[in-house]
Amino acid sequence: MAITVVGSVAFDTIETPAGRRERCLGGAATHFSLAASFFTDVRVIAVVGEDFGPEQEAVFKARGINTVGIERASGKSFFWEGSYLENLNEAKTHNTELNVFGSFQPKIPDSYRDSEYLFLANIDPVLQKRVREAMPGVKLVAGDTMNYWIKDHKPALLEVLKGLDILIINDTETRMLAGMNSLVKAAQQVMSYGPRMLVVKHGEYGATLFHKASTGEPAERTFRAPALPLEEVVDPTGAGDSFAGGFFGYLASQPHLTPGVLRRAIFYGSVMGSFAVEKFGTDRIANLKREEIDERFEIFRDLTHLD
Ligand code: AMP
Repeated sequence: MAITVVGSVAFDTIETPAGRRERCLGGAATHFSLAASFFTDVRVIAVVGEDFGPEQEAVFKARGINTVGIERASGKSFFWEGSYLENLNEAKTHNTELNVFGSFQPKIPDSYRDSEYLFLANIDPVLQKRVREAMPGVKLVAGDTMNYWIKDHKPALLEVLKGLDILIINDTETRMLAGMNSLVKAAQQVMSYGPRMLVVKHGEYGATLFHKASTGEPAERTFRAPALPLEEVVDPTGAGDSFAGGFFGYLASQPHLTPGVLRRAIFYGSVMGSFAVEKFGTDRIANLKREEIDERFEIFRDLTHLD
């Protein structure tokens, strides 16, 4: 089942203890699409500038990602610069240039309209809401956001949350969004804003799925999976989006949303996040093979299995 994703397609300058890369291909929608493309068809809505050329386009094309909805505008693409020198779990943003995203009016190509899954990757919540409203027929909607939008654009973000089935954010963002320190209470608060499921990412420590009980069910359900302990993290950029791509891509590839499917989706998210950090930018996932995903899924199974 196809996923339409809206979010940033960007150039990133990144510094980590492993080195520095200037203007590599990045953006939340880019990392998400590449990861999800191993599980299902992916269609992107974004805007890029004149600096986005055949070399960048080829990264999407090589994974069979539909780029009809990536609009070309005059000017420069979204640019982000960040570092992880003190803490590999948290990016320090040095510069964000919206550039062509500043005046972006998302348009949904007709060929995207039958998508049953929608992912609102990290971008201005006003744009997320517009895309959500333009695709009322979708079966399942998930989304992401970040501290910047939670802090300064909360009313617009709360509007987006009303239209989400699943929110995928990290633990700091969960506490910030709810204004509470207890993760469990914060998760309940966040789900009261709209999403019936919340996936909380804990960086190198894994992820937790909170699931609001449906009518007739005894209680809220919670499931936690670890992240793979890795010898070296080269670049954490895109780990969260790759997690979301693995998680949502796997859901979209399954006929029913059962508790077992949701649990496996958390594992596939963790698998894709673990690959993302092994090289700078999109380098690892863009060159990944499907067999490597299956092998790593088995490693995750061993990591958590009792006998
Ligand atoms: P993450 O998966 O959380 O590491 O996301 C990393 C990606 O988010 C980078 O490739 C950036 O280009 C992108 N990004 C950073 N800041 C923003 C922002 N304010 N809006 C949209 N995308 C962003």
